Amino acid sequence: MTSIAHYRALVRRVDEFSSGVLREHGDSMACSPGCDSCCILETVNALEAWMLLHYAASLGPVLMDELMRRAAEPAEEGRPCVLLQNGLCAVYEARPLICRTHGLPVYVDGSVDFCPKNFSGLGRIESPFILGIENLNTMLGAINLQFQREHPASFFQQERLNLRELFKRPVADILAEDGPLE
Ligand code: SF4
Repeated sequence: MTSIAHYRALVRRVDEFSSGVLREHGDSMACSPGCDSCCILETVNALEAWMLLHYAASLGPVLMDELMRRAAEPAEEGRPCVLLQNGLCAVYEARPLICRTHGLPVYVDGSVDFCPKNFSGLGRIESPFILGIENLNTMLGAINLQFQREHPASFFQQERLNLRELFKRPVADILAEDGPLE
């Protein structure tokens, strides 16, 4: 199985987990279109950069021009993710894994954490609805290493890629260094 297939399978698992939390606790969650409090992402790994570039390119030149224009603006302290457009994610279908966990109860550094806007009044969240973020990061890291072996272009050997820098160049130029979408 290729790294892209592994990644897609992991995305499906996280999305299924998220659907389960929504089914069980959706009434206690404030997450909805237009809430962008979590959208402060600055960097992604090489695999997720590759996925974002391919997806953004598929959305056509109007979006790409807009992203390039915004990416060229100077970054400000606390500025939200460059992919946030009018309060919505411009690449929602291909958003990185960490973005798919926004708002969910996560187990991290020995305790359960979640957005303070969510789960108010809920006495306890059962363990099947808590996501182990460290395990998720470990799996993503392993898949990213496989991706880097499969995609030797030097651009994709970087540990982290800054989203703003990623969209400053024409996407086609970057993807020309690599192969087609598998
Ligand atoms: S990629 Fe999309 S969901 Fe993730 S932080 Fe940026 S705008 Fe938000």
